[in-house]
Amino acid sequence: MPRPVPPRPAGLTLESEIVQGLFFYDEKTRNIHPPIYTGTTYMRDDNYEKHDNRGYVRDDNASLDQCSAMLAHLEGGVEALLYPSGAAAMASVFSALSQGDKCLAQDSLYYGVPRLLHNHFLRYGIEAIWVKAGDDEALEAAIDQHKPQLVWVETPSNPMNHIVDIARAAKNCKAVGARLCVDSTAATPILTRPLDLGADVVLHSATKFLGGHNDLLAGVLVTKVEDDFWVRIREQRFLAGWMLDSFTAFLLTRSLKTLFLRVIRHSDNAKKLADFLTAHPKVSLVRHGSQPTHPNYAVAQKQMKNGFGGLMGFHIKGGPAEALHAVRQLKLIRRATSLGGVESLAEHRYTIEGGELPTPPDLVRFSVGLENPDDLIKDWEQALG
Ligand code: PLP
Repeated sequence: MPRPVPPRPAGLTLESEIVQGLFFYDEKTRNIHPPIYTGTTYMRDDNYEKHDNRGYVRDDNASLDQCSAMLAHLEGGVEALLYPSGAAAMASVFSALSQGDKCLAQDSLYYGVPRLLHNHFLRYGIEAIWVKAGDDEALEAAIDQHKPQLVWVETPSNPMNHIVDIARAAKNCKAVGARLCVDSTAATPILTRPLDLGADVVLHSATKFLGGHNDLLAGVLVTKVEDDFWVRIREQRFLAGWMLDSFTAFLLTRSLKTLFLRVIRHSDNAKKLADFLTAHPKVSLVRHGSQPTHPNYAVAQKQMKNGFGGLMGFHIKGGPAEALHAVRQLKLIRRATSLGGVESLAEHRYTIEGGELPTPPDLVRFSVGLENPDDLIKDWEQALG
């Protein structure tokens, strides 16, 4: 259950509230940071009642209170649940479906989604339906035709940066009684708040921009309302033990305080890099919401605030050999998987995915970090030759 947050001054912007960690503090010492509790159990009082309704750390870990409250507030939801990874948060949503339910999703998105649905949830009688990514009309038609129980949208998507019109998808979902879950990992609440646009649940791999330093693994779900679907998600999380640990929650809380600052700088850097790459003779298309050549440019302009994020994909003229060659030449930008951290990372997803998904072989995924953008431009200049 969501816990009460400490009182805070009225009239503050969300940014100031988050920098101040929603004014949580340690009541005993008045330290401005709540402690990291390492214990796993709570003593009952003399009447054998739970104190503050806490019994065991899996039911209710006090070290997660501040982090969960900040995430719920950032997304405009009523409750946030923290998981040990983004993948666990995904599995938790699919686990709340029932045998015979249908889940409709884009055909190009984080590759763990099709793997999880095909390799595991199919065996539980959950049917996955795939729709052409980046095409809002196709999504609308598929929702109307299949009337799924769950629609899974990732925007901007990884690695193709498809940007989905959340408000439109939410309207379509409402019409057929489907729930809409948005993986907003690449947008973060600084750029898009899916719940405000009509989504039911928002998911993050907090390993990415929320954590932001390539040094923690975590996931989060936030809900708009506490309905039966959410109650099922929360209960299964408890029963299956998909809990984040105290120390990682502390790291994530610390990261969230700089989320506005980081995401805005990630977005500014990415816009500079996207402009540079769009003008580069060896690049055929840059997939970043800042670029008028992006196929979903109009949706990006309507839906995203404060910038377009630090994730982009771009196509290199020639093909897979040229794309792989460019990534191999990088000196500053690390050749590594993941995204959303302070260090810039680039990856040839086609090599990693082995052609399982419709990721084109000429695509480079680029997670733009917080380095000086001139250094990043120089690195691509020399790598592209
Ligand atoms: N969602 C997206 C968009 C991702 O990119 C990833 C990981 O790359 C995940 C979910 C899974 O998150 P995690 O690696 O934290 O389990």
